[in-house]
Amino acid sequence: MKRNITSTDAVHAGDPKKHAFDAVPQPAVFTSTYTFEDSAEIVAHTEGTHPRADREEYGRYGNPTCRAVEERIAALEGTEDAVLFSSGMAAVTTAIFALTKRGDHVVLFSECYRMTREFVEHTLGKFGVTSSLVPMDANAVTGALTNETKLVIGEMPTNPHLRCVDLERLVASCKGRRGLKSMVDATFATPVNCRPASFGVDLVVHSATKYLAGHHDVLGGVVCGTRALVSLARDLRGVLGNVCDPHAAFLIGRGLKTLALRVEKQNATALAVAQFLEKHAAIERVFYPGLPSHPDHALARAQMSGFGGVVSFVVRGGMDGARRVVDRVAIPRIAPSFGGVDALIEQPAVMSFYEMTPEERRDKVGIDDGLVRFAVGIEEPDDLIADLAQALGESQR
Ligand SMILES: *Cc1c(COP(=O)(O)O)cnc(C)c1O
Repeated sequence: MKRNITSTDAVHAGDPKKHAFDAVPQPAVFTSTYTFEDSAEIVAHTEGTHPRADREEYGRYGNPTCRAVEERIAALEGTEDAVLFSSGMAAVTTAIFALTKRGDHVVLFSECYRMTREFVEHTLGKFGVTSSLVPMDANAVTGALTNETKLVIGEMPTNPHLRCVDLERLVASCKGRRGLKSMVDATFATPVNCRPASFGVDLVVHSATKYLAGHHDVLGGVVCGTRALVSLARDLRGVLGNVCDPHAAFLIGRGLKTLALRVEKQNATALAVAQFLEKHAAIERVFYPGLPSHPDHALARAQMSGFGGVVSFVVRGGMDGARRVVDRVAIPRIAPSFGGVDALIEQPAVMSFYEMTPEERRDKVGIDDGLVRFAVGIEEPDDLIADLAQALGESQR
């Protein structure tokens, strides 16, 4: 397995040794605009000869706290640059808007973050961008490409079945086609487990709300890639105004310091939880890429250095069986989302897909009514497993 980033990287990568005021952490700078000494300084700023970062004339174009976090995330992802947004969806939608125009075509996979698909099919569709949905198989991309295809969007791993896309194949299918870019939402992987840019993926996006910030207390998103592509997203951010607040950036930057510690622990805990569940009589099926039974296990082993902190499983007894487990566990809180220090549990059929019929859920989005998504936090694995054991024991009665 490829080693990605270490805790030393998480603490230090992209962070200059000396900060303003000789502070240990990057100080947070709360300002909506920036002053100039005199008119000559404005001219120098406009001409690009002023030492201040070129964007920092007004808060919508840049902020030193956000900039520092962007540089650290770019260093962790191994990309030239990164740009922060107010949420993961702000990052995803701005990147897609920046790379497409009327008449273009976008390819995305059938297992895709629901709002990304909603945006591509409905919002982009309104602006004359067409799209195709392909099955979870990088080989399927080639057949869907047209002369108008500008973007292929994948996720690694996906929600909630933790499917993995073959990044090498994905990049190979995009190669040699003028203007075609690949984008991977690596929120579930984090740079600890997988760095898509190291496979040649053009743009890597994250909901920083999840693992990067890691404490369930802030929303944020980031787009990483070459300087040229990231600057397209940054310029559009200046127009759309979906900027990351410096206070949010400070929290994301603080969370990043413990990213590798947290994710390595979550990888180990989730694997132990998945192995426990797979042997349990009350469980029909477990989805975890670290298990040999997962359809993408071999691929995950080849392209990831850990399998993440989310385990999905189908409880016998359908809707009610899953509901009993969710309601009976004592440690995890019932909530959507994942990636933070607290364990969270939810039943996708109720949380995200309740308006569909059971048949639609099964056939259109592959969500079984008995499916539970369990996101481990940094709790002790034995405690989480004992808790699940008592909840599942009850569910059989
Ligand atoms: C949560 C999530 C998003 C959206 O991020 P927000 O910060 O909630 O806007 C996008 N993609 C994936 C894979 C996610 O899990």
